[in-house]
Amino acid sequence: MAKIIDGKAFAARVREQVAAHVARLKEENGLVPGLAVVLVGEDPASQVYVGAKGKQTVEVGMNSYEHKLSADTDEATLLSLIDKLNNDPAVHGILVQLPLPGHLDSDLVINSINPAKDVDGFHISNVGLLGTGQKAMVPCTPLGCLMMLRDHHGSLSGMNAVVVGRSNIVGKPMAQLLLGDSCTVTIAHSRTKDLTAVCRGADILVAAVGRPEMITGDMVKPGATVIDVGINRIERDGKTKLVGDVDFASASAVAGAITPVPGGVGPMTIACLLANTLTAACRANGLAEPK
Ligand code: NDP
Repeated sequence: MAKIIDGKAFAARVREQVAAHVARLKEENGLVPGLAVVLVGEDPASQVYVGAKGKQTVEVGMNSYEHKLSADTDEATLLSLIDKLNNDPAVHGILVQLPLPGHLDSDLVINSINPAKDVDGFHISNVGLLGTGQKAMVPCTPLGCLMMLRDHHGSLSGMNAVVVGRSNIVGKPMAQLLLGDSCTVTIAHSRTKDLTAVCRGADILVAAVGRPEMITGDMVKPGATVIDVGINRIERDGKTKLVGDVDFASASAVAGAITPVPGGVGPMTIACLLANTLTAACRANGLAEPK
């Protein structure tokens, strides 16, 4: 049976460290980091995420600014709000909750955020900085995965990593981060041939597919570390249940270590968002960054 990587406990430790640093900033520099979250529309899952982000932001001693706009908000209104936040010195991090309603151009909106305040790390400048190994704002979900992997393994150098999924928000930045830690990286996707064989070559297997329990035990190399990014709501036995992209029962019988869903990658994502906001506040004020 695999070791369970406890993302919930890890995230609590990260939040404690962030809170301690925020308290010092307040005392020594009179600085309170601020995170602005923009939500357009009423997508229920997005509302839950935004609520959790706001709550945890306040809990670590930062200021939280929530901007809730109606689903029919036009592009000019949204861009004007982002411009205001870009120029507000009390706001160090800006996050536009995705997905945006279909009439809005997500790339245009994300690229209108000041890259220094882009705590989600989705701005084209941050993507380029990460890809070229320069100091970037790193997307929160893959950053959380990397932190758990480093914590579990120490060095990742020379390990074979397979990332299933090539989205801009998870798969691609995850692959960049693993490459940065000297893994040999394969990115698999819906056109990959013989996915089982590809996955079975992985010492580190990251599943970011958006398909409930798709990665089964027969796809896992014995002893491998499995990181399950997926969050899928399914109906089972008449109840709504949260499951990952990995079939936990069969995969955990083969893997050496595995993240559960819930309680794995999810909590780390928000913890990393808070850490990124703290980093952004320090950089904006020329102060030493948290380690
Ligand atoms: P996307 O839908 O943007 O990307 C899914 C990727 O999986 C695509 O690259 C797609 O390939 C690939 N894929 C789909 N079907 C298959 C298949 N049968 N075989 C191999 N590859 C396949 O999803 P996201 O990256 O946004 O999210 C992935 C998962 O992570 C979701 O469950 C999401 O809810 C979750 N998530 C969790 C977060 C957290 O905080 N824990 C944060 C963000 C996401 P192709 O490109 O060829 O279509």
